[in-house]
Amino acid sequence: MAGRLDNAWIDELLSRVPIEEVVGEYVTLNRKGRKLWACCPFHNEKTPSFNVDPETGLFYCFGCHKGGNSITFLSEYEHIEKIEAIKLLAERAHMELPERSARPAQSAYENDLKDRIYEANRFAARFYHARIWQSEGASALKYLYERGLNDSDIKRFGLGAAPAHGSELHDALVKEGFSEDVIRKAWLSGENEGRVYDMFRERVMFPIINPRGHVLGFGGRVMGKGEPKYLNTSDTPVFSKRNGLYGLNFSLGKDVPRPNRLILVEGYMDTVMLLKHGISGVIATLGTALTEEQVRLIKRYARELWISYDGDAAGQKAALRALDITDGAGLDVRVIDYPSGMDPDEFLKARGREEWEKLPRHKPAKYRMLRAEDGLELSTQEGMTEYTVRCCRILKTLDNAVELENYLRELSARTGYTRDVLMRQIGQVSVQPQPERRIARPRDIAKPANESENAQKLLIALLAAGLIGPDIVKSEDFDNELYAEICTNLSAGEKPGAFIDSLPEEQTAQALEAISYTPLPETPDAARKLAEELLATVRRQRLNSRISILTERLSTAREDEKEEITQRLNELLMKL
Ligand SMILES: [Zn+2]
Repeated sequence: MAGRLDNAWIDELLSRVPIEEVVGEYVTLNRKGRKLWACCPFHNEKTPSFNVDPETGLFYCFGCHKGGNSITFLSEYEHIEKIEAIKLLAERAHMELPERSARPAQSAYENDLKDRIYEANRFAARFYHARIWQSEGASALKYLYERGLNDSDIKRFGLGAAPAHGSELHDALVKEGFSEDVIRKAWLSGENEGRVYDMFRERVMFPIINPRGHVLGFGGRVMGKGEPKYLNTSDTPVFSKRNGLYGLNFSLGKDVPRPNRLILVEGYMDTVMLLKHGISGVIATLGTALTEEQVRLIKRYARELWISYDGDAAGQKAALRALDITDGAGLDVRVIDYPSGMDPDEFLKARGREEWEKLPRHKPAKYRMLRAEDGLELSTQEGMTEYTVRCCRILKTLDNAVELENYLRELSARTGYTRDVLMRQIGQVSVQPQPERRIARPRDIAKPANESENAQKLLIALLAAGLIGPDIVKSEDFDNELYAEICTNLSAGEKPGAFIDSLPEEQTAQALEAISYTPLPETPDAARKLAEELLATVRRQRLNSRISILTERLSTAREDEKEEITQRLNELLMKL
């Protein structure tokens, strides 16, 4: 979003509001050398690895690798879009946002369209909510009463009823001044052979609202015999099922204390019921299995995720699938184990909140081992063998030695196999190929490929800190294209905070790590000496790789080529 505004304007904005002031409003910063340090507000830690650099205009955390400029900080911390963060900063800086006409027409249209869709959705939510108290909402109201909700719950969660027939909502929206384009793009009505109809008919309506109070879309549960049982807003310019989560507004709204864990349930009704029972931080996916996009979103808000799916076979299967998606995402995941096929709502109604708190919350491996029993007859030798093999396969994926030891002891006691036999089995079983994770861990992205990459990274750090200048290092000195680009920007006198957003998004983590690298030499003299050593490393590595290419060629070269190659090799070796 920032890229769509004039770069010079953004630069001006960032330079008028020092980053240490912006971050300092949320986090207590302590100066240590050139940088200001704090415990990271984005992950739990006891020793500070989060720093703010007034020089570069950037913040960066060495623990969780979050970083960026003031705009990034505000949008991440406040969970707002970048354009909203820009507006906040502009207010502080007493700067006016550039005229909309100054932006490309397309994006102005998109922003207007999004705003209009939010408005249409808000209107629709009110429309549905009003209907639930009228005669046409009687069956929806009865359904909610039967589930145990009262009038104030229905108001609190903004639930509604979609009329059974026709295009009432559409007509009301048109009367209110919304265009057909907006109504259609909001997925509120459709058209078939010239006849307009509302998308949601005869359904209990659950508005999906983001933490900032925007109505993104709806989920509707059918009242009559219609299909499908659950219908959700399809993808629109403001909503995507893969990304969306129901219930975030109840847990992360403006005046709600932020929970440190979120609870993932199967649907709208479960969300509402758990919240009603006073349990906070409850969210649901929108008619889909948990996606990687949603896991990323969850991670933005909490460190811990409790999966609270139904205790029946379908729920257990879904929980296992969810575990596969959350593996390696850096979340502390637990699965709540409901007894004898109960669902969360049933359990709470039957036994109450206190008992709910006492339910076992299993770690992923433990839960998988429990499920490994499913479909097996453990009283038979065959069943016990298969169970043991399955468990060993699960344990093989553990990288925590203490945890592994605990499970081994348990498994040994359970199966009668000695620890030794189990260990050998773990060594032998082949791990089933895991689906490839697309959640790239910043650590992996930022990992330097080799010594030369590392040297280039440090050179960038020295340059960004102003310890060396463009007289010492030039963009040609970098093999890494990203570093070369950063070098060009820095040499042109640009601040990292200003150009970081213009780098390709998948590379910002790597750029931030390089720019924020610490510790650095204190004096320019020491920095210059280090830079020279680093440049030598980069050059040596370049020579080495050319030498190895030539050596390779030499082994397959024709006789008449050999002499020339040998000569060039000797020249290169001399330079080493
Ligand atoms: Zn952090």
